[in-house]
Amino acid sequence: MHEKLQLIGDYSPVQLVQPIAGGDINQAYYVQTAEKHYFIKTNQHVPADFFKIEADGLERIRATNTIAVPEVYHFDITKDDEELFLIMEWIEGNKSNLTGRVLGENLAALHLAETGSFYGLDQTTFVGELIQENVWYNNWIDYYREMRLRPQMELAMEKGRMSGKRQKRMESLLINLEQYIPKTPRASLLHGDLWGGNWLVGKGGEPYLIDPSVVYGDHLFEIAFTELFGGFPTDFYHSYQAAFPLEDYYEEVKPIYQLFYLLVHLNLFGEGYGKSVDRILARYEA
Ligand code: ADP
Repeated sequence: MHEKLQLIGDYSPVQLVQPIAGGDINQAYYVQTAEKHYFIKTNQHVPADFFKIEADGLERIRATNTIAVPEVYHFDITKDDEELFLIMEWIEGNKSNLTGRVLGENLAALHLAETGSFYGLDQTTFVGELIQENVWYNNWIDYYREMRLRPQMELAMEKGRMSGKRQKRMESLLINLEQYIPKTPRASLLHGDLWGGNWLVGKGGEPYLIDPSVVYGDHLFEIAFTELFGGFPTDFYHSYQAAFPLEDYYEEVKPIYQLFYLLVHLNLFGEGYGKSVDRILARYEA
């Protein structure tokens, strides 16, 4: 730790290193030196650019000047099987009665900030530890089908988590996708992995986003995921909608956008998510 902190110019003694529970993938620590408090993640079993990609995503969000993200002080890239470090700003604070509202306003501002001309990204990212390949598409339906649903379906097949019936329904949904999702929605910069565990409260009750998997796409894809596992206050939805209203087809498209994240969970954590996947596929059976 001490050596890594010296890299960022903190030569002061390390006073406390406290492991943090809760991360699925990495070891996480609260680290206190005589100078500063840090959040540090380490991992030995991820690709060399795993933390660089996380830092890039945070940087893209920061560059919009819309919603707070922790400052990244250092990330390792290495080709060996060495332990990688990511050092960032420690975020801590208490919710205020404005936190939910500000989260909604700022997320809407992020989604309205930059309009990409294309969908996807010029970079591979990760969703959890699953690789998310990206290229640019000029059509959101094709991006969502070819870069999101199909790769997760194929991964589930490899893992033996796609029964014949499930696969048949998936394939038919892929064919019919254009009936449900928009071809050219606004290409918003999305956090891309926004479940309730990926926002934190900082000083003054300010909401921060962490752990992004950024992509340019339909903002409804992001909002649909916030609703899948909960963790977002009602005033978040109110203030978001006041700034960036959800289109009329939101309720119709929501399960299809949630399907991607459920497939990711099926692939990461197993059949426990199978029922939810099947429920959605049954709803859209042609
Ligand atoms: P993982 O990438 O392994 O899922 P997370 O980034 O989610 O790990 O972090 C694990 C825990 O640390 C979570 O409980 C999260 O709330 C907390 N955490 C993440 N980033 C910070 C930060 N910058 N400051 C304070 N706590 C953080």
